[in-house]
Amino acid sequence: MPEPRFRVAIVGAGPSGLFAAQFLSARDDVAVDIFDRLPTPYGLLRYGVAPDHTSIKAVAHALARVFDAPSVRFLGMVHFGRDVTRDELLTGYDAVIYAVGASEDLRMGVPGEDAVGSRSAREFVAWYSGHPDAEPQSLDGVRQAVAVGVGNVAVDVARILVKEPLALAVTDMPEDVLGELRRARLTDVWVVGRRGPQHASFTTTELRELCRTPGVAVSVDPEAFDDIDDDALDRRTRANVAVLREASGTEVADPRMRLHFLFWRRPVELRGDPVRELVLERTRLDDGRVLGTGETETLEVELVLRAIGYRAVRLPGVAFDEKLGVIPSEHGRVLDGATVAPREYVVGWIKRGPIGVIGTNKSDARETVEQVLADLAELGPRADRVDLVDALAARGFVPSSYDDWRRIEAAEANRGASYARERMKIEAWHELLDLVQAERPGGPIPPG
Ligand code: NAP
Repeated sequence: MPEPRFRVAIVGAGPSGLFAAQFLSARDDVAVDIFDRLPTPYGLLRYGVAPDHTSIKAVAHALARVFDAPSVRFLGMVHFGRDVTRDELLTGYDAVIYAVGASEDLRMGVPGEDAVGSRSAREFVAWYSGHPDAEPQSLDGVRQAVAVGVGNVAVDVARILVKEPLALAVTDMPEDVLGELRRARLTDVWVVGRRGPQHASFTTTELRELCRTPGVAVSVDPEAFDDIDDDALDRRTRANVAVLREASGTEVADPRMRLHFLFWRRPVELRGDPVRELVLERTRLDDGRVLGTGETETLEVELVLRAIGYRAVRLPGVAFDEKLGVIPSEHGRVLDGATVAPREYVVGWIKRGPIGVIGTNKSDARETVEQVLADLAELGPRADRVDLVDALAARGFVPSSYDDWRRIEAAEANRGASYARERMKIEAWHELLDLVQAERPGGPIPPG
């Protein structure tokens, strides 16, 4: 391929980065290198979207086509800040787009939060999604579990817990995760919100799916519906309230599992280590703020998953707004204080915060790419551009490639075939590394 006029680096191969690459690759004068710290592309599509949500995962098939373009490369196992720095990227590319998402979870800030049995939903999701960095999770001895938060992540973790494991045996879940879910003896799962059903951020399709899980009896604290004026609600919220009302009024004969929604309560303490009790305080709103009433109650639980939101992490050397947890930007152009940082851009959750579904990234990426292309037209290519991949090779560092990923994919399909499934995730680092190195020169690349 002749040297393209422009080279753009995208840091992060998740949905927002790939949508940006898709827009850029429509141009024949732009080549795109997509960096990721993992040897596997797709970010949250692979490691965040629940394994049983296959139609959302199908977006990955559409996004995979971006790699068909000869002008697009996948450079895996490259850790930003360790293997390449911001300065190196800025000398190697005419524009750099940060698309690293939000990798930390928020904390409740209550006593006992670090006890064994209290985890972030992020860790739990990473485990059942087969993320190579995930800690194995044990459900041994867990009878009652709580998801704190009333958003779609809480819905996901609650659904995985209440669903019949047989129904998950068709997904790409690793076999040891399925085995743990099969052995689990849960009886009750609680979803706890600090405000009312009319304030929950669930999307209705996801909530309905959870509430209609076969064999699961749903209850909603009846007081939760007090003071709700349906006519004053927007369409999504009204539909959510209707789903909850319907589910709590539906008899399930001989239920396998019980699912309880508790609203207007916030966690104030976890007792025991491992956790045995969750203390909840009743809440009320005062001028839009959630206040405790002082009235508490206790749930006996063995697992608490906080699903209260994510937060982006500062990238070394890159502007960051600690308060908002985002790289500050103007329509995707990174702002360093009040000034635009030349040739630096941002997309996805690290641009707008951890909100929105996969598709939200498309319009977000379009906005950022418009700025990139306008600036490239004005600034032109960098006169002193160096070939970063050559520079990395000169110091003995060879990123993993898209072909390496295809080998991982083929191995996952093979593993799936032996369990009569389309595919099964390979989650162990050593197996991923073996596959990455199968046809690569050079020594091992340490994960981290
Ligand atoms: P979210 O929608 O922002 O929900 C977070 C929940 O945590 C809210 O109910 C919030 O309550 C509550 N919360 C925050 N701080 C709390 C605290 N200190 N104590 C108790 N509760 C607290 O976030 P999310 O569920 O993490 O989802 C992130 C994004 O990913 C969302 O846009 C979501 O739609 C998307 N997502 C989509 C899917 C899907 O489409 N299937 C699946 C997963 C995630 P307040 O409202 O009172 O703050």
